[in-house]
Amino acid sequence: MRFDVISVFPEWVASVTRCGVTGRARERGLMSLQCWDPRCFTEDRHRTVDDRPYGGGPGMVMKVEPLRRAIGAARGADPRPAKVLYMSPQGRRLDQAAVHDMAGQSRLILLAGRYEGIDERLIQLEVDEEWSIGDYVLSGGELAAMVLMDACARLLPGALGDEDSAAQDSFSTGLLDCPHYTRPEMIDGLEVPPVLRSGDHGRIERWRRKQALGRTWMRRPDILAQQELSQADRRLLEE
Ligand code: SAM
Repeated sequence: MRFDVISVFPEWVASVTRCGVTGRARERGLMSLQCWDPRCFTEDRHRTVDDRPYGGGPGMVMKVEPLRRAIGAARGADPRPAKVLYMSPQGRRLDQAAVHDMAGQSRLILLAGRYEGIDERLIQLEVDEEWSIGDYVLSGGELAAMVLMDACARLLPGALGDEDSAAQDSFSTGLLDCPHYTRPEMIDGLEVPPVLRSGDHGRIERWRRKQALGRTWMRRPDILAQQELSQADRRLLEE
């Protein structure tokens, strides 16, 4: 999967592929990233990418032309068609189902805004979708783009050490994940649940499912309400 990110902080964005799962995905040739700095597509000596807002008011607005040229360069760098996604607090809220769809695309162009945002006409002319990573305002779209790339990377076959771990993650199963433990068995009087040390895989599976159901019921009843629960799940919840 190829990502192109348009950002005035290309080095920062590029750092996402230098470590962790995204780093491994890049090393294994599953994911590539090219960053495009709109300042390289300006024509004045100050490399200006922003200007004062029409109508007055605080802050600056990102200009159309440098961004448009940067998007054009990103599109032209690979023959495959790519959607342009603008990372924006006004976009649709990102969730795991959307990430699954995105991870199935061969390439995406991500646009990171700054300042008060981007000239609306650039969005009308070049942007296919707007995506938010939550109902709060960041100083720029870089972190949002990095969040999106990280979430996609872990779904790319071969990116994780264990193929099953993404399938068992919260939301992928339609539930929150169960609790996890590792050695030692006891810390400050807190013991690892004996069932996890029993070696009985059937019981362990049942316990994990019950924990996932219980946690989701307690913490996210909204997502539990969207699930079609089996009879077995209903029994586990009622136990
Ligand atoms: N004035 C804008 C508004 O209120 O909608 C906010 C601009 S924000 C300071 C600058 C940039 O950060 C935006 O253009 C966008 O790219 C990015 N950004 C901020 N919050 C975001 C969020 N929750 N999700 C995705 N991108 C975000």
